[in-house]
Amino acid sequence: MPAVAKHTETAARRYDVVIVGASFAGLVAARTAAMRGLSVAVLEAKPDVASRVATTGILVKEAAEEIDIPHWLTRRVHGVRLYGPSLAHVDLFAPGYFFLTTDTGRLLGWLAAEAQRTGARLLLGARFEGAERHGEIFRFKGLNIEARYILGADGARSAVARCFGLGRNTRFLVGLEQEYEGLGRTDPRFLHCFLDSRIAPGYLAWVAPGPAVTQVGLAVTRGRKADLPAFLAHTRHIFGYDEARVVERRAGRIPAGGVVHPWSAPGVMLVGDAAGVVSPATGGGIRLAFHFGRRAAHAIADHILHCGPAPEYALAPALPRFRAKRILRRALDLALPNPLIDLALTTPAMRWVASHLYFHRRGVGGIGFDAFQEQLPRWRPGEGSLRNGAANDAG
Ligand SMILES: Cc1cc2nc3c(=O)[nH]c(=O)nc-3n(C[C@H](O)[C@H](O)[C@H](O)COP(=O)(O)OP(=O)(O)OC[C@H]3O[C@@H](n4cnc5c(N)ncnc54)[C@H](O)[C@@H]3O)c2cc1C
Repeated sequence: MPAVAKHTETAARRYDVVIVGASFAGLVAARTAAMRGLSVAVLEAKPDVASRVATTGILVKEAAEEIDIPHWLTRRVHGVRLYGPSLAHVDLFAPGYFFLTTDTGRLLGWLAAEAQRTGARLLLGARFEGAERHGEIFRFKGLNIEARYILGADGARSAVARCFGLGRNTRFLVGLEQEYEGLGRTDPRFLHCFLDSRIAPGYLAWVAPGPAVTQVGLAVTRGRKADLPAFLAHTRHIFGYDEARVVERRAGRIPAGGVVHPWSAPGVMLVGDAAGVVSPATGGGIRLAFHFGRRAAHAIADHILHCGPAPEYALAPALPRFRAKRILRRALDLALPNPLIDLALTTPAMRWVASHLYFHRRGVGGIGFDAFQEQLPRWRPGEGSLRNGAANDAG
């Protein structure tokens, strides 16, 4: 019956929800929505979710508690070594707290596989270029699909926000990073963070030992120069970059102005960086992308399957306001003179602020740092990667 065959070939495939962007927010939302029983498609402009990753990909403990992630894609790092401009440093830690550095490309691949396993359809190389509402249904420009709901998880410069006249991110930090193989002088018990108003005005620079490579980068307030060569020259004698090999370079923008307004319209919501749901102080966005990706999927499923309220009404009260963090961002943008930073680092008040920022008020107290270090495997410069016990081996 050729007429019927022709019809099925050209009929648009209809989904309950189409998610734009297959990264942290979009993939977690897709998995959750599919598990709740929705038909889900994810549009991703890149040909592969793991390619051109634009993040350091460090997970705070709360992110690791939000979504369970295979240990072989991560390295557990317990402390933060915070350096001043003179390179004098203090070691910060909190018993029970940790960060996970990640093999980020593979982590995204794993999240994509999880979303597909639950039934979500992943359309790679499918760029969202606009959609129009026809009654209760959205039709997508250039794609033979329809949706009852659209979730924009397409990052800091969201095309979904542009298409539907939603709020856009206007304030950014700009990040630049290199990945090294063989940076054996890096003490892997710490995230190495550098405060320096000349080299990283408005934010900081970092050396982060990952499961496979070490990431070296910095972020600055937009409009200031992200001078990675200056940072490398400043810290070369500590880390010995010349002995290692650069395997990848990354750059990206981090929204720093808080949640965009409006962040939703009837049938459309933004999550993750698209919604500006990123801490303006620390630039951390993955935990919030996980959290609100899931929450958005719950709200859409409740609405479509169980006559729940419009998802944007269900989610609105939970969105962070970042009041204190926006004030802190303004203070950081002022970039303290370097001698003052060095001086501040010696004070208990500054250590208290730093501990609270890094460790989110959790786990502070308990055993002292020396006792804590005693419990960690020993490491000496030049030893290469620290294997943090079987549960954290890179595999
Ligand atoms: C240099 C740098 C370092 C960072 N380090 C950290 C860190 O260590 N820890 C942390 O918590 N946060 C970090 N962040 C922030 C964090 O990366 C983001 O908050 C997080 O990636 C947001 O996830 P997302 O899913 O909302 O968006 P994104 O990760 O930006 O993903 C958006 C996706 O949408 C796709 N897309 C875009 N446009 C379209 C379109 N038109 N059609 C289809 N697909 C599209 C993109 O290809 C991409 O896959 C960093 C950011 C930068 C720039």
